[in-house]
This record gives sequence, C-alpha cells and structure tokens, in this order.
Amino acid sequence: MTGPDLTLALDSDAGAYVAVHDRLDEPSADVGLSSRELDVRRATRDVAARVLAPLAAEFDRTHEFTHVGVQALATAGLGGLVFPPHLGGTGDSNVAYAVAMEEVAAACPSTSLVFMTQMHAAYPILLAGDDDLQRRYIPGLLDGSAYGSLGITEPDAGSDVSSLATTATATDQGWSVSGQKTFITTGDRADVIICFATVDRTRGRDGITAFVLEGDWDGVSRGAPFAKLGMHGSSTAELFLDDVQVPRANLLGTEGAGWKVVMSSVVKSRISAAAQGVGIARAVYARTLLTLRALHGPRLPDDLTFALAEMRGQLLEGRLLLHAVARQVDHDSAVSAGQIGIMKQRCTDLGFRAAVTAVGLLGAYGDLADVGVERYLRDAKVTQIYDGTNEIQRLLIGREITRAMEDIL
Ligand SMILES: Cc1cc2nc3c(=O)[nH]c(=O)nc-3n(C[C@H](O)[C@H](O)[C@H](O)COP(=O)(O)OP(=O)(O)OC[C@H]3O[C@@H](n4cnc5c(N)ncnc54)[C@H](O)[C@@H]3O)c2cc1C
Repeated sequence: MTGPDLTLALDSDAGAYVAVHDRLDEPSADVGLSSRELDVRRATRDVAARVLAPLAAEFDRTHEFTHVGVQALATAGLGGLVFPPHLGGTGDSNVAYAVAMEEVAAACPSTSLVFMTQMHAAYPILLAGDDDLQRRYIPGLLDGSAYGSLGITEPDAGSDVSSLATTATATDQGWSVSGQKTFITTGDRADVIICFATVDRTRGRDGITAFVLEGDWDGVSRGAPFAKLGMHGSSTAELFLDDVQVPRANLLGTEGAGWKVVMSSVVKSRISAAAQGVGIARAVYARTLLTLRALHGPRLPDDLTFALAEMRGQLLEGRLLLHAVARQVDHDSAVSAGQIGIMKQRCTDLGFRAAVTAVGLLGAYGDLADVGVERYLRDAKVTQIYDGTNEIQRLLIGREITRAMEDIL
C-alpha cells in the first residue's frame, strides 16, 4: 500500500511557490511596508521560487555550497540592499533587507546564511572603513564576485568576545596578525575576512581592533568545512592566521575601536538572524498546511485548526516585531541591545518552535525528508546560537530591565 503523494508543488513549480506564499501574506503586516519594500519582497520571492526553493533539499542532501543561490540573488540586484549606490548597493531600508532575508530563509535557510554573511562582512567596512577600503572591498561582496567572512569567534572566545586571543603586533608597515578563528561562516572560501584581534590583551575590550584581511594572503589557511546539524548548503570552518602581514591601510577604524565595530555590526546581524527565524516559521507553516491538506483535505479537525491558528498568530507577531525593530534601526541606529535582543531571541525561537510544532502536527510525515519540515527544524536550531546566543540576548534584555527598575524605584 502506498501513502498519499506528499511531493509539494512549491519545491518544483515557481508559479505554485509564489501563489502559496502570496496567499499567506498578512495584510496587517504589509500595511506598514512602503511600495519599494513590497517590490523588494516580490523580487526576492521570484528568485526564491525559481532558484532557491528547487535546490534547497539538494543542498541539504549533498552539502553543496549554495554558490548558485548567492549568485542569483546578486544578479537580481539584491546583494547590497542597505548599501549606498556608489558602492554597488541600492540604498534600501533595513526593513527592506529584513523582508528580503525572510524570503530567502523561507526558501533556503542555507542560502540565507551565506547571503547575510556577505552583508555582515561588508557592513563593518561601510561603518568604519575609509573611502579606499570601501571601494576596494564592498562592491565585490555585493555583486557576488567575492565571498566574505566575519571572523570573531575563537576556540576560547564565543559568547565572551572580549576574551579573544588573536593578536595584532605592530610592525613598520602595519600589523602582524596571528591566531585562530573558528565556526566562521564561508571561512573555507572567503576572499575578504573581517578579523578581530587584540593589540593588547590586558586592555580587554579596549584592545580589540578590526582589520580587513584577504583570503589569499601569506599566513592565512583554512580548515575543512565542519559537518553540521543543518544549514548544509553553507560552510562553517576554522581560520588559521600565522604572522599575516596586514598593511596599515587595512585597519578598520582606529586601534582599539574594534569592540565598537562589533557592537554596531550586531545590530544588523541580529536583524538577519531574526528574519531567518520568521522565514523558517513561514516555510514550515506553509508546508504544514499543504501536507495536512494532502492527508485530510481542506477541512481539518478542530484540534489541528486550533494548532494552525496558533502558528499563524505567532508568525504574524514575529513578523511585526521584526519589521518594527528594523524600522526603529532605520530611524535610530542607537537602538538598544535589549531591544535588538528581544527581536533576535523571539524571532529565532519562533522559527525553531514552529518547526518543532510542524513536525509534531504531521506525525510520522513530519519526519520525512520529502515533506521538508525536518530540514527546517535542523536549520532553525543554529539561529538560536549564532549572532549572540538567545541566553546572551536574555542577559542583555535583563540588564536593561535592571537599569529600568533602578530608574523607576
Ligand atoms: C553554523 C554557525 C555559524 C557561525 N558563524 C560565525 C561567523 O561567521 N563568525 C563568527 O565569528 N562566529 C560564528 N559562529 C559562532 C557563534 O557566533 C558562536 O557559536 C556563539 O557566539 C556562541 O559561542 P560558543 O559556541 O563558543 O558558545 P559559548 O559561549 O561557549 O556558550 C555555550 C553555552 O553557554 C551559554 N552561555 C555562555 N555565556 C553565558 C552567560 N554569561 N550567561 C548565560 N549563558 C551563557 C550559551 O548561551 C550557550 O548556550 C557560528 C556558529 C555556528 C554554529
């Protein structure tokens, strides 16, 4: 006996993909978007439907790097949404970026991880680099001709970034950088590496300094990509830096200003992670609806409908929160770590919990690779870990609560 055909049209038919996701858009979230932001969503959904969704399961199975996906997004002019036109960007809002990231993540979370890392590598250069550094490195990251990595984490410096041990020693021409980075997205192939090192460990945060390194410089070597739970179409690798000679021109900002660069950069990167959470939640919601319809028809028992009502409501809440905080960042780049943390933690928890719920609602079908929610469940987990774990986000939120209580009482 064979079961029902659970092959989902949206994996192979771009028209079906767009129709399903258009049908699930929520007017109460869309009403706050500008016509340009809606255009960005349409353009990203089109690439998602034609290129990303049909390849996502294959990337997961084969662990092939999502070069095709990133190139398709860059070719569609979506690689530089928050960057100025003179550097190859489109000067869009953070909301437009969040909306695009949600689309990419809904179709292929792995591609969204590499796509956002391109932005995370380019953004510190925009923030702290001089004109020459910006023109040398940013356009290639935006048009996809170069891959970028953000090198913060080390074997003994994860959540506690201030304890990083990669060292920059002054030389006549600039600095010699030595140390080890780990868990670096696209680290196996990055052409441009934003590297955080300390010029003096005794200075703690005040010693942290940011540099732009090129992947083919002497002294830069890479580990093989790690085998991982999810996000198989992206690569995560170690970087080994052995007496890498960094010219003075490749300093980002000033010596000792690296901590400020990290803190300003995470505002953007946490929008990325949050948008991944919302995109994953939407994807599993769509897959759950389609699979339940194939199993039971469109009229479901009340318990299933109630569970879907919860999912839909939580998805809308997450999207509204994402848009609200991204809009706040558009108006005020000094948005607090706690506010960013609420968005990052809520939205990435949303993605993971939605995937767990979807697998539960579908029973054994939820376990099947063809249905796809198990892939999103594996992909979702790491969004709660990177860009500051969700425990660290709660810590940051809690600190603001304490300060507020001190002010109030
Ligand atoms: C797929 C993937 C991609 C990544 N990409 C990048 C990248 O491109 N660049 C980069 O620099 N890094 C990257 N990372 C690293 C990521 O940012 C770190 O894993 C993350 O910051 C957590 O650090 P850690 O793994 O060392 O965990 P730890 O800091 O060792 O934490 C372990 C556990 O303890 C908890 N914990 C730690 N401190 C506290 C505290 N004070 N209070 C309460 N709980 C605490 C954490 O929440 C966590 O649950 C990536 C990681 C993964 C898995």
